[in-house]
Amino acid sequence: MNYQDDIPLAKRFRSIKTLTIKSSFGLGALFVGLGISLTLIANKSFLVKVKSIDDSNTPTSENKNKSLLGHLPYPEASKDELILFSPGIYVHKEIYENFKEMQFIAAQRGVSLQLLSGYRSIDLQRDIFYENKSIRNQTAVERSNVSAPPGYSEHSTGYAIDVGDGNYPDTHFEAEFEQTPAFKWMKRFANKYHFVLSFPPNNKQGVTYEPWHWRFEGTVNALRKFEAANKITKFK
Ligand SMILES: [Zn+2]
Repeated sequence: MNYQDDIPLAKRFRSIKTLTIKSSFGLGALFVGLGISLTLIANKSFLVKVKSIDDSNTPTSENKNKSLLGHLPYPEASKDELILFSPGIYVHKEIYENFKEMQFIAAQRGVSLQLLSGYRSIDLQRDIFYENKSIRNQTAVERSNVSAPPGYSEHSTGYAIDVGDGNYPDTHFEAEFEQTPAFKWMKRFANKYHFVLSFPPNNKQGVTYEPWHWRFEGTVNALRKFEAANKITKFK
């Protein structure tokens, strides 16, 4: 503990004054005083820094506790954050231009990036999760390997997309998508447009590999949404 922090500022200046008065009062006192003031300012900003780290970085164990069957909770995008990309498919406004450009550049190489799904409301996710569960006669735990429970899907944010190869529709939502030119192109170039694969093989969240599912991390707002997921990847 720095003892200086316990002495009020005015008192400190007074004691310096009495010390320097005997030798060379004036500039000397000014410099010492200035030095202490700077130390104070430095200490203060250090404290602010420590505090902000505490505020934003919750321990990994907490994030783990918040997850449900390997999936993390995500808020639903508001209507005014969304934009219609293609018939029936809404995405977050912030990813619109990036995906369009990526699609355009890929098309110049003969690669067809098809947007299969974007934003999903929590209600729709609920239907998908429970419907598929009963159709496939799976338990919630089994189902959670391939689909997020309602309230726990990256799609709710509007920042997650499912991509298919327009020239190979049979591979949509299938592991075989990995073999298509669209996936190969994405793997090589998507990060230029700030899209990352959410569930790579053997991901730390324990979700089944989904080569078609990408999320956008190109804005502060987007990055914040996936902070917890990235922490699991980096620190677990
Ligand atoms: Zn998806």
